[in-house]
Amino acid sequence: MPDSIEKVVIIGSGPAGYTAALYAARAALKPLVIAGTVPNLPGGQLMITTDIENFPGFPKGIAGPELMDLLKQQAERFGSRVLDENALDVDFSQRPFRIKHDGAETRAESVIVATGASAIWTGAKGETTYQNRGVSACATCDGFFFRGLDVLVVGGGDTAMEEATYLTNHARKVTVVHRRDALRASKVMQDRARNNPKIGFLWDSVVEEIVGDGKKMQGAMLKNVKTGATSRVEAQGLFVAIGHKPNTEIFAGKLALDEKGYVKTSPGTTRTSVEGVFAAGDVQDSVYRQAITAAGTGCMAAIEAERFLAH
Ligand code: FAD
Ligand code: NAP
Repeated sequence: MPDSIEKVVIIGSGPAGYTAALYAARAALKPLVIAGTVPNLPGGQLMITTDIENFPGFPKGIAGPELMDLLKQQAERFGSRVLDENALDVDFSQRPFRIKHDGAETRAESVIVATGASAIWTGAKGETTYQNRGVSACATCDGFFFRGLDVLVVGGGDTAMEEATYLTNHARKVTVVHRRDALRASKVMQDRARNNPKIGFLWDSVVEEIVGDGKKMQGAMLKNVKTGATSRVEAQGLFVAIGHKPNTEIFAGKLALDEKGYVKTSPGTTRTSVEGVFAAGDVQDSVYRQAITAAGTGCMAAIEAERFLAH
């Protein structure tokens, strides 16, 4: 990596990062996208989902990975450069900013933070032991392995409904385990799950322990939070879908974060607590968390970075 100063470095390659890259590239800023690699998810959260039915412009829907590949191609077409590395540390105390990544350190006049969010695990006993041995946070990736088997899905939001519905393509029976007696998911997603004869619901219940023979999970111990009663449910798979946490570890102490760890931005803008650093997408949005809002704020961040650089 040459020791020049980049005009814009974008950290993250989800809908927010690639949309920011598209706009910055078209503004002739030659953005560098630090896309993330294992354990991060290049392409972001949509890489682990099936059909996206609510991204405008695709009336028949589009597969998540296909949409992300198109966004990447569109950003690269105008000169964005994509680096398959992780940002490891940042120094925002003075300009040019410094971003340490796997290969080197890059200096930048402005930075767009678009590191998104990651799955949260339940923390139940046995969860780590049985990860990839029955426990998963991605039905699209692992659903195939549960053909004809019984699986549990933990959570009551859109992701849980989507995972449960998708899993009915493979599993014999899918049981949604939710800690309350009302779902948080949007009505359309709820209805789809509720009307699916393969999906059942266990209300007011949390997973206490995932049990098995040490090699494969065989069931889960559930607790009814209202009665305190515990029961064992037989299942060969358990999909955790209880939300996500913002990927902001490397920004702690460098940018103002809210109490949940999301990057704070000035209302109606993508400006962070550091002039010249902008944040877009799920990393700064605990409310909407959609591909289109991520893309929208990615666009805003690039325009704001361009104006910042012009002044
Ligand atoms: P993300 O997509 O989370 O991307 C974050 C990027 O940052 C990744 O590229 C990652 O590799 C990178 N990164 C993280 N840390 C680092 C680091 N240290 N260094 C470098 N890179 C890093 N929304 C919809 O609108 N419609 C849907 O149908 C839909 N379905 C969904 C299904 C599932 C299963 C999930 C989990 C979410 C779904 N969403 C959907 C929500 C949507 O995926 C997110 O709102 C959107 O992906 C957020 O985009 P983002 O660019 O902010 O972040
Ligand atoms: P979410 O909306 O935050 O829902 C998380 C669910 O998990 C909630 O039902 C919550 O229960 C439960 N939960 C949280 N912590 C728990 C714990 N420790 N133990 C047990 N249960 C726990 O998250 P999401 O479903 O992942 O959705 C995130 C965003 O992506 C949303 O904005 C959603 O609309 C979007 N999304 C959209 C689509 C789509 O439109 N097709 C698909 C997927 C996701 P409570 O309800 O009790 O809080």
